[in-house]
Amino acid sequence: MEQHVKNVLKSHDQRLHRRYQLENEMTKVGLSEEAATQMRRMLHQKESNYIRLKRAKMDKLMFDKITTLGVGAFGEMTLVCKRDPKTLYAMKTLRKNDVIKRNQVAHVKAERDILAEADNEWVVKLYYSFQDRDNLYFVMDYVPGGDLMGLLIKLEILEESLARFYIAELVLAIESVHKMGFIHRDIKPDNILIHRDGHIKLTDFGLCTGFRWTHNSKYYQKDGSHARQDSMEVSSCNLDEHCRCEILKPLERRRNRERQRCLAHSLVGTPNYIAPEVLLRQGYSSVCDWWSVGVILFEMLVGHPPFYAHTPIETQQKVINWKSN
Ligand code: ADP
Ligand code: MG
Repeated sequence: MEQHVKNVLKSHDQRLHRRYQLENEMTKVGLSEEAATQMRRMLHQKESNYIRLKRAKMDKLMFDKITTLGVGAFGEMTLVCKRDPKTLYAMKTLRKNDVIKRNQVAHVKAERDILAEADNEWVVKLYYSFQDRDNLYFVMDYVPGGDLMGLLIKLEILEESLARFYIAELVLAIESVHKMGFIHRDIKPDNILIHRDGHIKLTDFGLCTGFRWTHNSKYYQKDGSHARQDSMEVSSCNLDEHCRCEILKPLERRRNRERQRCLAHSLVGTPNYIAPEVLLRQGYSSVCDWWSVGVILFEMLVGHPPFYAHTPIETQQKVINWKSN
């Protein structure tokens, strides 16, 4: 609420500021009164389009699907074109049933609120969110450069200067998220998108992103090099002797009732990027996001994450015992 009020006030201030700037510029260049009125009308039109965009009632028929951008925990991320006016967006579709079954309603709501309220150049902007009987839809900025994991897979190792650039951006991005009062908790290369201008944008504030047996495994590499790994391949239940979910096949896992329990215990982030205090459930603060930055820097320069192991459980053990590894 506080953030929302802040944003409302901020957009009002910004609007005034734009008007003030326009007036200033017009006086500077000595625009005729007629031209100035025209300019004011144009600015007003732009401003009200923007407000309308934010308030519009939407449904999925207003968008044409162009291609799939990625497969997520509860559905897919697609590139869509809004029909009128023609604009490209990325649309995240979440199956309501899955979200509810996996106790992720609060996380999904949190993600929507954060994306919608974060008026911040480091965070992917959410333009619309709506729903129908089966799905929730998030319509956001299309970030065309792919994600950092894609870049790591392509380049294997980044030159120091490039790594320095991305880490510097990441530091600023995370700092801005912390300043808004949020902890991302799932900072990993898949959630760092690269814009067409080369700058990064953070996405996926869904906290724990669930079991991903539907996830496309084509990037999954067993040799320790960069690999996309599902956050829930390992969960805190792996620390619990009685929990067998990690050895069950995905389909069995899906049927297994223990899954529910594991979900209740579920953790945030893949074990490769996750901070030890989070794994140990010792309580965490925003500091846990900085741990992930260190892991990403290591991976950029070395070609694999520092705690890589053949199984997520081993990775988790390595993270916890980081001092002796
Ligand atoms: P999940 O919560 O299921 O991980 P994400 O929000 O991380 O979903 O999206 C999944 C993938 O889709 C990302 O790793 C990224 O490759 C791609 N993606 C996400 N958002 C965008 C976007 N705004 N523009 C382009 N691609 C995106
Ligand atoms: Mg993600």
